[in-house]
Amino acid sequence: MYHVVTRNPADDEQTIDEEQTIDEGDSASSKKERVLHTRVPAVLERELKRLAEGLRVPVSNLVRAMLEDAVSVADAAGENVEQRLKTFAKGLEEERDRLKKRVQRDPLADVFAFQSVKLALPATCAKCETKLERGTHANLGLTDKPRPGASRIFVCDACLPTDEEAT
Ligand SMILES: [Zn+2]
Repeated sequence: MYHVVTRNPADDEQTIDEEQTIDEGDSASSKKERVLHTRVPAVLERELKRLAEGLRVPVSNLVRAMLEDAVSVADAAGENVEQRLKTFAKGLEEERDRLKKRVQRDPLADVFAFQSVKLALPATCAKCETKLERGTHANLGLTDKPRPGASRIFVCDACLPTDEEAT
């Protein structure tokens, strides 16, 4: 059983209609979110949990991204959403990279500056996940938004955005 929280902007009505919807009803619905209760096969549940752990995001965020993705792809292809979700569940591993981008967005999105630093502790590149050894050169991404889970952002030289990418 999953508690799937979806945003409910007007153009997402289609999403809501595809699933059994339980509107929380009370005045708290001003949050414009609804809780969907749905059953998933045990195999899919394990896959979802594993994938969510791997991406370090809550399962509900992952499921939301999957649903949004499934609906937009199904729309584009004139496919039915259920079919798309089944295909999706099968290809979960292949979808992983695309999902990861979608769920995590750009890890450098909030960075306003990079500072060249020498690492005193080992770190990991926020982009390519290369291990950055202690004593080596890295680039510290400065941000003023608190980031859940990863408070510091380092990138290797190869992943340092160029001027073209920064705009
Ligand atoms: Zn890198």
